[in-house]
Amino acid sequence: MERIYIKDLSEHIDKEVTIKGWIDVRRDQGKMIFFDFRDMSGKMQGVVLPNATEALAVGEKVRPEWVVEVKGKVNKRPDNAVQKDKLNGEIELEILEITVLNEAQTPAFDIEGDGKEINEEVRLRDRYIDLRRERMQKNIRNRHEITHFVRDFYKKEGFAEIETPNLTKATPEGARDYVVPSRLEQGKFYALPQSPQQYKQLLMTAGFEKYFQFARCFRDEDTRGDRQPEFTQIDMEMSFVEQEDVIAINEKMLIELVKTLYPEKQIQETPFPRITYKEAMEKYGSDRPDLRKDKNNPDELAFCWVIDFPMFEKTDSGEWTFTHNPFSSPQPAHILNLMNGEKIEDILASQYDIVLNGSEIGGGSIRSHKPEILTKVFETMGYATEKIKENFGHILKAFSSGTPPHGGIAFGFDRLVMLLQNEPNIREVIAFAKTGEGKDLMMDAPAEVGQKQLDELGIKILKDNK
Ligand code: ASP
Repeated sequence: MERIYIKDLSEHIDKEVTIKGWIDVRRDQGKMIFFDFRDMSGKMQGVVLPNATEALAVGEKVRPEWVVEVKGKVNKRPDNAVQKDKLNGEIELEILEITVLNEAQTPAFDIEGDGKEINEEVRLRDRYIDLRRERMQKNIRNRHEITHFVRDFYKKEGFAEIETPNLTKATPEGARDYVVPSRLEQGKFYALPQSPQQYKQLLMTAGFEKYFQFARCFRDEDTRGDRQPEFTQIDMEMSFVEQEDVIAINEKMLIELVKTLYPEKQIQETPFPRITYKEAMEKYGSDRPDLRKDKNNPDELAFCWVIDFPMFEKTDSGEWTFTHNPFSSPQPAHILNLMNGEKIEDILASQYDIVLNGSEIGGGSIRSHKPEILTKVFETMGYATEKIKENFGHILKAFSSGTPPHGGIAFGFDRLVMLLQNEPNIREVIAFAKTGEGKDLMMDAPAEVGQKQLDELGIKILKDNK
């Protein structure tokens, strides 16, 4: 018999149906056994009546989280048993036959509640069970809805989604790279991308003009609170634009996203307020100010743009380094100072960050698309000519091959979803999250590899502590 999804059962009153799913709850009342069944579409109650002897025998041995196929008749509940506002609250399945498709050991934790009281490491170890809970199902499914919305939005605006490599070369975004050893060229390494920054700029050179991507980024940072070694960005870039154009289209995307998928939420102010870095630091002591009027209201969204960031800051050893992104251009009025090496500390970048309720959810800039300007940025940071050539020769060459003015932005997608879902950390919106220490407890990664693999890669492990 064709399988019916649980959410559709009320269309089958007085008919015999087959459902497939998990046993959510089992209540044995001696002569009768009550069940709640669960599939991807919802839950419903079923009962084995005393006369269904075979079903009763199976019903006695099955347990929560077992996977079953159930044949039964959809009955209307008597008036006094109707639960009005509940899915399937007006019907009940009279169970005629239960077939066990898979047994389940008793889960290590409860999946009924929101799970926040359970030790997180335990949840991450058996993540496939933790993900069954309603809250996690919602988080992951809503994440999917947001993904689709964003894809549609950019596509309608004429952007092409283009994938860029994960095996690439170290880039200077500022964090430590994850490296992957090359087998064919022993002693050489790929780096996993910290972001698709250079590739997306090269796509502008390549004439795509409007690009976006859901990009996986990898940063080997000392794990602090709410960070993951790999995370997702909504990454976009466009040609022949100024700061205003990038801000406008992305603000439109965020507003439409909230209106479409989170209509219960209120955006505190549109157009989003803009605040300079200087003002933010003076007034709020932070470059990601929380502008909410009522911080207790979970449906209040206070977006703001932070602009006019300094281009350079001093390192501990007294050299200049970029504050955000070496590929950001100084603002047009400050380019002359850069080229003349004057008032470096006063040079402002055409960099913009987007902040939501006190969290930075994205950042981007108009780029230096002229090779002499980008070269000057590297020189200002004290890079020797040889180093510039070695590390950035490819992009400087591209910028001498017909590259349009361009700029873009990247959003921290996990954080955006987290805030929209009112979750306290990004692990709650990532299906298979790692711990704060960067471990995948379910797969037990990172892990050692065999000697053969090491030999092929020409790698010898030095263990000081052995
Ligand atoms: N690549 C930058 C980042 O990851 C974002 C951008 O400027 O587009 O922060």
